[in-house]
Amino acid sequence: MDKNKTYVLSVPSAKAAFERTNIERRALRPLDILIDIKFSGICHSDIHSAYGEWGGGIFPMVPGHEIAGVVAAVGTEVTKFTVGDRVGVGCFVDSCGECEYCLRGEEQFCTKGVILTYNALDYDGDPTYGGYSQKIVVTERFVVRIPESLNLDVASPLLCAGITTYSPLKHWKAGPGKKVAIVGVGGLGHLAIQYAHALGAEVTVLSRSLNKKNEALSFGADHYFATSDPATFTKLSGRFDLILNTVSANLDVDAYLSMLRVDGTLVNVGAPGTPDQYSVFSLIMGRRSIAGSLVGGIQETQEMLDFSAQHDIAPKIEVISADQVEEAYGRVLRSDVRYRFVIDISTL
Ligand code: NAP
Ligand code: ZN
Repeated sequence: MDKNKTYVLSVPSAKAAFERTNIERRALRPLDILIDIKFSGICHSDIHSAYGEWGGGIFPMVPGHEIAGVVAAVGTEVTKFTVGDRVGVGCFVDSCGECEYCLRGEEQFCTKGVILTYNALDYDGDPTYGGYSQKIVVTERFVVRIPESLNLDVASPLLCAGITTYSPLKHWKAGPGKKVAIVGVGGLGHLAIQYAHALGAEVTVLSRSLNKKNEALSFGADHYFATSDPATFTKLSGRFDLILNTVSANLDVDAYLSMLRVDGTLVNVGAPGTPDQYSVFSLIMGRRSIAGSLVGGIQETQEMLDFSAQHDIAPKIEVISADQVEEAYGRVLRSDVRYRFVIDISTL
């Protein structure tokens, strides 16, 4: 079969302007699916990567790992999907499929190394290119089904922001009787509030200002505090079983640890490019833990999509055209987004 030529938005080097160029997606292998991408969310990780903040970026880079579209063609041995199906692709496009983590559905921790949707080399050594693109070819194991009740535009951010917050909330058992704090009300945070609430936890939101209070309460928060007020930290001392940190910058970790109960856990999904600092005494004095979580496995991603449809959970999005991506990056950096930009790929 022929290769699939596709237009993309690519960054030639770190922090450079986006260019509309074209690339070739590989010809379909027996288990491959060709997807016509309809919408692609803008994750803050796209910005960390395109700006070279995490080091070692592969350029030119086509970011995008919140992909929603429609199946355009399938390989000869595909069984899960047919042409016309509404599907999604998230942060990963391949893994070994055989190691203990792949076998238990946690492909993100594949011992051979999970293949990221962009800014990575696949097992053949070819660079991967992400969702700011008209088409993508992905092996069926990494494609999920988008429930009928979710529009493709609101579904796209669930493929990263949704699963990245759903997975740790499930893993650390956010639920009835648990006091959970969500730090940062951005793309990830505003979904985390909805999941923690739907799972039955008592949800407190910690945002820098009071600006997002009404919306956070409408997402299901029970309490809301501004972290710009130092009194917040004394008021909430020893309060939470779980704090989910979605912030893209370094925080005063000791101040956040002080709000955990004995045995409480601070889980980081926010991923600033520079190291955090904290005192071990903040852990020792309350047998507290600091942890991290990486997106989520494919089976859990499907579960998250179905859970979102069942509980009417959806991101609040602003749909933009392909020529607004640069402007959108600037607005994300200024936290001027409510709460996720989604590129309408038909404008590319
Ligand atoms: P986002 O939309 O920019 O949201 C981040 C939020 O953090 C902002 O809305 C803001 O909330 C808060 N914030 C920003 N700068 C801050 C600062 N200097 N001090 C305190 N708070 C600040 O970003 P996102 O797309 O949700 O992504 C958040 C982070 O998660 C990024 O670092 C991203 O790379 C990472 N991420 C990790 C994974 C993973 O698997 N672990 C997956 C996806 C994304 P308030 O205005 O409410 O304070
Ligand atoms: Zn992401």
